[in-house]
Formats: sequence, structure tokens, C-alpha cells
Amino acid sequence: MSETFTSVSQEEAGFRERTRLTFDLDADICVIGAGLAGLSVALEAARLGASVAVLEGRHIGWNASGNQLGTVMPGFALSLADLIERVGLEDARELWTLSKQGAEFVRANATEENMPGIGLREGALEVSNVDDGDRLISRLQMLHEDFDTEVEGWQVDRVRAVLKTDRYFHGIHYPRAFQVDGRKYVHGLAALARRAGASIFEDTPVVSIDHSGIRKRIVTPSARLRASHIVLAGNIHLGAPLRRLSETLLPVWRYAGITAPLGERVHEITAFKGSVMDSGGIDHFRIVDGDRLMWENPQTTWAARPQRFAGAVRRRIRTIFPQLGNVEITDMFGGATGQTVHGMPQIGQLRKGLWVASGFGRKGMNTSAMAGQLIARSILRGDERWRLFSPFELVWAGGMTGRVAGQLVGLWGRASSAAAGSLARYRERARVKDGKREARLAEANRAAGTGPRRPPPGVRPRPAPPPRAAAQAAEPAPQEDSVSQ
Ligand SMILES: Cc1cc2nc3c(=O)[nH]c(=O)nc-3n(C[C@H](O)[C@H](O)[C@H](O)COP(=O)(O)OP(=O)(O)OC[C@H]3O[C@@H](n4cnc5c(N)ncnc54)[C@H](O)[C@@H]3O)c2cc1C
Repeated sequence: MSETFTSVSQEEAGFRERTRLTFDLDADICVIGAGLAGLSVALEAARLGASVAVLEGRHIGWNASGNQLGTVMPGFALSLADLIERVGLEDARELWTLSKQGAEFVRANATEENMPGIGLREGALEVSNVDDGDRLISRLQMLHEDFDTEVEGWQVDRVRAVLKTDRYFHGIHYPRAFQVDGRKYVHGLAALARRAGASIFEDTPVVSIDHSGIRKRIVTPSARLRASHIVLAGNIHLGAPLRRLSETLLPVWRYAGITAPLGERVHEITAFKGSVMDSGGIDHFRIVDGDRLMWENPQTTWAARPQRFAGAVRRRIRTIFPQLGNVEITDMFGGATGQTVHGMPQIGQLRKGLWVASGFGRKGMNTSAMAGQLIARSILRGDERWRLFSPFELVWAGGMTGRVAGQLVGLWGRASSAAAGSLARYRERARVKDGKREARLAEANRAAGTGPRRPPPGVRPRPAPPPRAAAQAAEPAPQEDSVSQ
């Protein structure tokens, strides 16, 4: 099967008429779910020559995949330090490399030629909301030397030269990270998969599967399908086909808003053209349409109308960039991500011919692409690298109790990160004041020609302030490697 890409037309990328499955069908591979994960598997498998049928209960990109920010970075939701602790340095390196290949898969597909208007733009900046330069340096070394990732450390001054806020301190710039129009990407992916020969049926929920035989049976309300392989890519909504699998995911709904055009003001507060995310998992934003801000925040463990959170987004923007005042939010969107207990995606074969691709959390662009490559290449080329994910088993996410606990843990994580941020800013202000006081004192001494003043007899001199690094050691550390899932 040809691997050449041809451009996705407006009709293909937009809202074409939906096709339902109304007749019985045979295929090599049946993919359940037309989000990023299902479509990535379908595209890769179709390119490798398999006959593929994708069954989608609603429509392409209906959930998170069609309502996301489109930032593409290497890595996982799990921090690098935790990943190494879990699987050792060698396997962690291999997993990291796979995640970078996932990002490159997106880059190769998301060209203007393939997906007109996709708007790929380079660079992402991860900023710390605590003042911790030492940690930044060790993290940079690890990413650069051990994980062969292009990164650049930005000192506080440089971060603040491009982002006019005192909320952020150091930064890690990923010049190879990039962003695309997330909605166009999922529709573009569907169009490319169709071009490669995959069939995609929408409004076609899978109500049950029988995965016991060599040829597996898939039941939808108006037709049946038989396939040698089933790929479960339904995220938290999978439901009936394998309810126990959905229960290994903690659903987290994420929301984002887009402001009205802000004119020149937006360029005065941020000169960075790529995505910005903070290390505490609170903010994720970038400029879109020339002068609007697209801003992700907050999250819940229950479904709510995104419009409900317009005020929260507005307040958050005002907190970070008070110069902007109260901005108007003209559009809100959101979707549910599936978070695993261990923080790594679920990728692999559950039993012969039954595959899973889910649990991508908030880093779904590169990881779902990686899942697509791994699963398709295992089925069709015998590539067994998906086994690197074996240490990350399916773990029950706690049902309703898990959701409540998840919300508390999530809130605690974000709240403590916000508290660490205010503490760091307080310390910084105190240091500036101290510096000014010392300068005034030195000036007064020079004027009096006395040099450093001696304390009066009987009074012990004040101890010198502790070195900066020691003072900072007491500060809570920023989260490693992007944000909580
Ligand atoms: C606001 C927001 C911003 C985000 N920003 C980013 C970002 O910038 N970068 C990044 O990497 N990630 C981001 N993410 C995360 C990313 O969007 C997700 O990780 C990713 O979309 C998950 O894709 P998926 O295919 O697993 O799931 P989904 O998008 O949920 O797709 C699953 C599909 O399966 C279908 N389905 C389920 N069950 C059945 C069934 N029984 N029969 C038929 N169909 C079924 C559903 O209808 C759904 O369409 C963001 C998410 C949100 C919500």
C-alpha cells in the first residue's frame, strides 16, 4: 500500500456526511473508537496494507481528541524520575525514544500539504512556578545527555523577558516540540486513514465483542463485523465491550477557553509563539488566530458543560497577566481524558488478537501516535516493542470512590503547586527588598566614610543571610517533566 500523502480537502477535514455501518463486514483489524488513538492505529495499519474498519459510537474526534490544544511534546504524563525508578534507565530511554517517534509521526502527517490550515508552529516552553535553578540544571542534563532530547535552559530573566509575569521563574525550552490545530489534526488523520484504505463508520457504537476465537466478532446495533484483531481505543467511554477496561481509567475532564481578539496587548504580555505550560500542571496556553489566547484550565472528575468554566479561565488569565484585566472568553471547549493509576498509557495485547490503546492522559498527541505505530507494526510486522509497556499493568482506578479521591488528589497537587509558587514569589520580593536595604546601608556607610557599621558593644553582629541555594533547598520542588496527568 502506498505511503505517499496527499492533501486533505476542506470537506474531508471538516464535517463530511457520516457513514454508519449498516451491513455485515469482514476486516483484518477492527478499531473501536475514532479518537487520536484509534485513528493513529488505523492509519498506520492501513499504510502497512491491512484492511481496517474503525467503528465510532458518535463522530470523529467527539471527545478529547477533537477538543484539545494540539501541543506535541516528547515524554509521558509520568515524570522521568518516576519512569526510571519504575523500569530502569535503559528501558526508560527506549520508552522516551518511542515517545519522540510518536511526536515525529504527528509532524510527518501534519504538513500543510496533507492538512491545509493545520498551522504547525515550533517550540514549547515549560516554565517553573517555583524558583529552583539547581533542579532545572540537573533536569536539563538528564534530558540532554541521557535522553538525547534537544532542550535549552532559560534563566528567570529570559523567561520574564518573553512572558510579562512574576508568576514564572526558570524555563525549559523544547525547540523540537510543536503545536498544531488539534481539531483539524484529528479530522486530517481520519482523512489520511481513509486515503490509505481504512473504512470509518460513525454513529456506530460497539455494544459487545466476542474475542474468544481466531476470528473475533463485534456487534453494533445494525450490523456485525468479523476481524482477526480488535483494538480497543474507546478511552473512558468504551463501556459494554470491555467494561473492566474502562474501569482501569480515572476520567478527568479538562477545559479550555479562547479569548476575544486582544490586539497588540497580547504581544505585550507574551512574545513566545509556541505553547507555554507550567510545571505545576495549572496553566497551558498559547496565542491563536494572531491575537487571541487559548488557555487550558481547570479540570474536574465529573462531566460538566465547558461554558461553566469561562469565569475560571478569565480569572486565571487575570492572575497570571493582571495587565490584561478582565478578558472576554468567546469560546469554551473540553473533553474527558483517561488517566491511569501509574501515569503511563495502556498499550499492548491483552490476549491473542485483543489490543488496547488508551490512558493517554493529558499527553495524548505523541503517545497515541506512538501507540498506533507500535500496535500496527506488531500486528503486521512482528515488532514487539510494545512489550516495554508490560510493567504498567491494568490497575483498577477505583470507580466512583476513585473519582472522588482523584479530584482531591488533583486539587491538592494543583493547590500545593500554587502555594509553592506564592512562596517562591514572596521570597523573591523579600530578596529584592533585602538587596535594596543592603545597598542603602552601604551607601550610608560610604557617605559617613565608616565602612561596614560595627554593632554597638554587647550586640552580636547579625549572621549573614544563608546562601541562596540553601534557602531554596527548603522550597517544594517543581514537578518533573510536564505536569500531572
Ligand atoms: C482540553 C484538553 C486539552 C488537551 N491538550 C492536549 C495537548 O495540547 N497535547 C496533548 O498531547 N494532549 C492533550 N490533551 C489530551 C488528548 O486530547 C487525549 O489524551 C487524547 O485525545 C485521547 O485520545 P483517545 O483516542 O484515547 O480518546 P478519545 O478522544 O476519547 O476517543 C475515543 C473515541 O472512542 C469512541 N468510543 C468509545 N467507546 C466506544 C464504543 N463502545 N463504540 C464505538 N466508539 C466508542 C468515543 O466516542 C471517542 O470518540 C488534551 C485534552 C483536553 C480535554
